[in-house]
Amino acid sequence: MEKFFTPDSLVVFGASLTNLNLGQIVLLNNRQIGYPGRLYGVGSQAGEINGIPVYTKVADVPEVPDVAIFLTPAQTVPALMEDCGQKGITHIVIESGGFSEYSHGDYTLEEEVLAVAAKYRMKVIGPNCVGTVHFDHKMMMPFAFFKDIPQGGRLSLISQSGGVGGSYLRAVAGYGVKPGKFAATGNKLQLDEVDFLDYFIKDPKTDVIALYLEGFKRGRAFFDQARACEKPIIVQKSNRYPESAKIAQSHTTALSGDDAVVGAALRQAAVIRVDDEMEFINAIRVVGLPLMKGRRVAVLSRSGGHAVLSADACAKYGFEMVPFPESFIEKLKTIYKTRVIAHQNPLDLGEIFDYTIFTTILEEALKLDLYDGVLFNHLYSADFEGAMSRTFLAGVEKLVAKYQKPVCLTMISDREEILDVQKTQPYPVFTSPAEAAAALHVSATYSERKSARNERGALYDFYFDQKTVEEIRRRSLVGNRTVLTDEALAVCKAAGLQPVKSLVIKGSQTPGRISLHYPVAVKLLSRDASHKSDIGGVAVNLRNRRELLEAIGGMKERLSLLPHPPAIDGFLVQEMAPAGIECFVGGRRDPAFGPVIVAGLGGIFVEIFKDTAIRLAPVTPIEAQGMLKDLAAWPLLAGARGRGPADCGALIDLICRVSALLDACPDIVEIDLNPVIVHPEGQGLSLVDARVFFPADRE
Ligand code: ADP
Ligand code: MG
Repeated sequence: MEKFFTPDSLVVFGASLTNLNLGQIVLLNNRQIGYPGRLYGVGSQAGEINGIPVYTKVADVPEVPDVAIFLTPAQTVPALMEDCGQKGITHIVIESGGFSEYSHGDYTLEEEVLAVAAKYRMKVIGPNCVGTVHFDHKMMMPFAFFKDIPQGGRLSLISQSGGVGGSYLRAVAGYGVKPGKFAATGNKLQLDEVDFLDYFIKDPKTDVIALYLEGFKRGRAFFDQARACEKPIIVQKSNRYPESAKIAQSHTTALSGDDAVVGAALRQAAVIRVDDEMEFINAIRVVGLPLMKGRRVAVLSRSGGHAVLSADACAKYGFEMVPFPESFIEKLKTIYKTRVIAHQNPLDLGEIFDYTIFTTILEEALKLDLYDGVLFNHLYSADFEGAMSRTFLAGVEKLVAKYQKPVCLTMISDREEILDVQKTQPYPVFTSPAEAAAALHVSATYSERKSARNERGALYDFYFDQKTVEEIRRRSLVGNRTVLTDEALAVCKAAGLQPVKSLVIKGSQTPGRISLHYPVAVKLLSRDASHKSDIGGVAVNLRNRRELLEAIGGMKERLSLLPHPPAIDGFLVQEMAPAGIECFVGGRRDPAFGPVIVAGLGGIFVEIFKDTAIRLAPVTPIEAQGMLKDLAAWPLLAGARGRGPADCGALIDLICRVSALLDACPDIVEIDLNPVIVHPEGQGLSLVDARVFFPADRE
């Protein structure tokens, strides 16, 4: 991978001697910014571009270049790559488009590229991308001119889109952020974001990694890497809605994927997810400061109005504006004697006009263990206070380093002044209390999620009876039918769960004395219907044998009258579970992220409020508990308004087991336990219904 960022020599295919075509731009750009390595072109005419030699065949290049860059039409690429292979070139960047994004399912060109790559063990970036940039090495593969080449940047950027990536490289510079390295992934035929993430995690010159993605190719691998990464990772993942999928498909062949799963995975791995360019830039800036380790904030404000705005913004993000202690107030009185409006948090600095006092008060606030961070509103006149404000900023930077707490500064002045400060001053400043509070929120959330991630505890010690699961799968395959409810419950049992006591009656049998305690429920077992109550296939609260027989008889009759009567494979008689809160726990396999576990309350909570918690499986008990706490309905489980708490421990155990089962048993495509009736604390839960799908027997 190193060669892609620090190549000693580059050869560009598709370099015209006469036209300023893309190939020529790449060569000229590198010459202009002072690329220290050797440059070569390959084109239809031999000659020179500004002293850069151009050949008609790569074989004529007098050395083996480290990287070959393609800007020739798609259909020419495989043959030219073959030439590169012969020459001994192992690193290829295909900037040309026109591969799968136009051929709609006809992947032959891409297959050819992959075949040549495999033959010569080549590493390939793209196609349809702009390649890499390494600022310190003064090397740029994109076909766009760059003038400012900052050195010493410690931000690495990965972008699926060259256009967005290029614009972000320029945009961050406007906020005083220096990018160090950049990689565009394009169609990710071979190398993808996971490869670059891996490289940047290990790169000693990268402190922060930011990604713009339209889709995850190997979501699970990304997740595993991100979860183990101590550097902050920021992701903007677009293509969130089905509507975007269409354009993204023709853009970089990205599939939109399930956005809820993406969100869950990023959160679980403590990746900072942002939605737009400004959030992207602000997140990059704020993680460059010490992290906010809690949510207690001190607000210092040169304007009363901005103090109020800050209080609103802080409240919105759940920050606690802890009152200043008496000792701090006493100190304030010794620092200045003028009228200060009120000694409260937010502190209105009112009529003070002395920059040393600002710095002293800020330092006193930072010293207090009561606060995890500071929001400072600096309202000033550019004409009179511009120079002082810059000195003040430098002082703030020192204090932040000394006390290891973030200070988010709101600079409120003329627009030109702010643009200049943002571009030229290394310390990040924000333009409104809302923006500054949002940045502190990113910092606090990141550190919370990072701790949660790093302290998630051990995975469940899990054993499951694989034989039983395989036998059930075999039976459904042989019978060419779905898994029946009793079998699905047996799968749960194989994972160590205890479904309610039950027995099966074959369709034609009349039950004799049953070994269950009344009251019981009876439900239809049918390969044609897994949603039983929808078709009248469930009867509950049957108090004796007579009621049970009547229920079965009535059910048979009603089912036979349906327009499409379902096959009757039998009936499941279950003991009635005692009352409790009906929850559901389900799992499925995401194409990119693998096994996913979902939990929530049953009934309207899930249907109307869409109140569910998602995590990638398997989960630890701490993560499972986190899922429950995420639910809007959590107070119901925790006990509220005179109701005692439910047996969350039992539910957590069940979530862990189902998640471990999904992970251990790739044959299970989907599993759905609904309802799981959770009883009061100490009384466990009752599992009364389950559905399990193996491949090829999805409904
Ligand atoms: P389906 O989901 O296929 O319609 P269920 O087996 O989930 O069928 O039953 C429907 C509802 O009946 C459940 O949500 C639950 O409220 C109730 N129920 C079913 N079996 C029992 C049982 N053994 N004890 C208590 N309630 C039950
Ligand atoms: Mg059900």
